[in-house]
Amino acid sequence: MQIKIDSLSKVYPNGKKALDNVSLEIGNGMFGLLGPNGAGKSSLMRILVTLMEPSQGNVKFDSFDLKTDRKEIRNILGYLPQDFRFFTKLKTWEFLDYAASLAGIRSKKIRHKKVDEWLEKVGLFDVRERDANKLSGGMKRRLGIAQTLIGDPKVIIVDEPTTGLDPEERIRFRNILSEISQQEVTIILSTHIVGDISSVCNSLALLNTGQLAFSGSPQELIEQA
Ligand code: ADP
Ligand code: ADP
Repeated sequence: MQIKIDSLSKVYPNGKKALDNVSLEIGNGMFGLLGPNGAGKSSLMRILVTLMEPSQGNVKFDSFDLKTDRKEIRNILGYLPQDFRFFTKLKTWEFLDYAASLAGIRSKKIRHKKVDEWLEKVGLFDVRERDANKLSGGMKRRLGIAQTLIGDPKVIIVDEPTTGLDPEERIRFRNILSEISQQEVTIILSTHIVGDISSVCNSLALLNTGQLAFSGSPQELIEQA
């Protein structure tokens, strides 16, 4: 999938300009969206996932247009927000089963097979009977990624993926995403920690106070710095 961000600006009702004429192209593989707090990363992501409209500019996902094809775009997207929490009494496997049914998988048999596959992939099979909200922080994050991916989205958007995770969980999380990025998907990761993602992304963009300060490969970023 080719995502074409064209001259995007966002001005909030209070006059704050969070995005200023940002243009970017994002292809398959892992894309890193870098920038300090307040740079505009979340604003850009909220626009991409159709939760917020831009003040100016447009985005295309292949031939789908953000202005006219919201429904189609939502169908191909998976979004894992930063402050993802489980307000649920469901067991870990039930939570994924529910996510799979929301993603439109009607057959119980197929759902259960998918749930088991994903529990294995993210290393939660052994705790599948545990209440989802009693899992550790890192486990919850992994359950979040499984929930996001169980519907086979073509574009995956992950906000600050490794915040609050210990080093071991960070590596684990990155490995899960690397594996997925071998397939025909686009993964967009946002972070304020460069070292977090530069090793796994094939291209990067750097936002600073709403403006695009850099876009290119991790290598080019290092050479410029
Ligand atoms: P980041 O995700 O990079 O931290 P954000 O997109 O959250 O950046 O924020 C960009 C700027 O816009 C910041 O100055 C932030 O305070 C401001 N901002 C974000 N959301 C709103 C809002 N709803 N109303 C007004 N200003 C906002
Ligand atoms: P992020 O980690 O995305 O930068 P923030 O802490 O900046 O998150 O924002 C959290 C929430 O507060 C968001 O919904 C954002 O829209 C809102 N927000 C952020 N800055 C402002 C602001 N200056 N005025 C109003 N709302 C804001």
